[in-house]
Amino acid sequence: MRAVRWHGKKDVRVDTVPDPEIVNPRDAIVRVTSTAICGSDLHLYNGMIPTMQAGDILGHEFMGEIVALGSSVGNLQIGDRVVVPFTIACGQCFFCEKTLTSLCDNSNPADNQDIAEALMGHSPSALFGYSHMLGGYAGGQAEFVRVPFADTGCFKVPAHLSDDQVLFLSDILPTGWMAAENADIERGDTVAVWGAGPVGQFAIRSAFLMGAERIIAIDHRPGRLALAAEAGAETIDFETVDVMAALAETTGGRGPDRCIDAVGMEAHGLAIDNIADRTKQAVGLATDRPHVLRQAIVACRKGGTISMPGVYGGLVDKLPMGAFVNKGLTLKTGQTHVHRYMQPLLARIESGEIKPDVIISHRLPLEDAPGAYDDFLNRQDEFTKVVLQL
Ligand code: NAD
Ligand code: ZN
Repeated sequence: MRAVRWHGKKDVRVDTVPDPEIVNPRDAIVRVTSTAICGSDLHLYNGMIPTMQAGDILGHEFMGEIVALGSSVGNLQIGDRVVVPFTIACGQCFFCEKTLTSLCDNSNPADNQDIAEALMGHSPSALFGYSHMLGGYAGGQAEFVRVPFADTGCFKVPAHLSDDQVLFLSDILPTGWMAAENADIERGDTVAVWGAGPVGQFAIRSAFLMGAERIIAIDHRPGRLALAAEAGAETIDFETVDVMAALAETTGGRGPDRCIDAVGMEAHGLAIDNIADRTKQAVGLATDRPHVLRQAIVACRKGGTISMPGVYGGLVDKLPMGAFVNKGLTLKTGQTHVHRYMQPLLARIESGEIKPDVIISHRLPLEDAPGAYDDFLNRQDEFTKVVLQL
């Protein structure tokens, strides 16, 4: 089969590789029909996530049709059309029983858990196509993919909805929703959202549904800010406006009630602290650039909440902990517990309340993946979200 493989920093190729096979009774093989490139894939593309190996198959946002099933999967049939959550979860452990599926104890194989434990203390769930410390599973930017724990990891979708309408149930729609939920939004709140990428876009739309009165989107890509404005957000371009002053002024000095960091470890911009982080990264003294998290902590109103869907990979430096403690802030984060949100969000798609396909800017064949990665990184204004079709 053809598959998108990581060969090193900024080196992604479409290669011919062996087809996946059923190896466990709970596996399924899915023939992929649509798969997307995620902002999280850019962290891999940029070589920011440790324990990738040359030849790893990428991709964690995908859907398709079941073409083979392990002997113990009772709730699926060959031919079912399914969306697959990017977090791999057994459905039975302590964490899965609490629906904390991105923290599943069993999906990351023992040897890989050792790497994760050394770096993080405990291993979260495995993810598709996302490094060996997170499972080393082949991803879904491929013609076929093996889905472990398929009885909990394959979510059936109705035939009357197109791939474009349901594909993002695999990751970024639940991620935007959980980001808003984690922000503890109360009716009438003002919410600041850093990052108007796909995650920020869905966080904005979700936050309005949860009762936010005003949402302020911060980015420097005019096209993405325009998409946020279409959803009803006010916008700040951080290249031309002083973000901290603007947030203070527009909230009468109090600060936004809730702040969402939908940027993560690779903040753009020429702020002094961001330049210092870049320098430290270059010489191996820091792994991540938490510029947005610093801004969110200082901007947030006293007693407010910071929700952080943006991914951080390792160690951050110079966090304003004094502000965090003395302003009594709350921070909530995590990889998304995708399984928990698929059914309720499908219902909102069916009712027309959420229209996930509005963020798609490009639909391309799988063979175009190398160029699509480059464009999604370097031409973010036009390339809001790329779907690879098979
Ligand atoms: P993206 O790269 O498409 O979008 C990020 C946006 O942030 C870009 O538009 C960029 O211009 C903007 N940005 C950069 N620096 C900024 C700054 N200083 N201030 C304001 N905006 C800035 O990525 P995405 O797909 O939207 O994902 C966003 C983040 O969410 C990534 O870190 C990704 O890894 C993470 N993510 C997390 C989960 C999860 O489960 N928690 C799932 C999916 C994605
Ligand atoms: Zn993702």
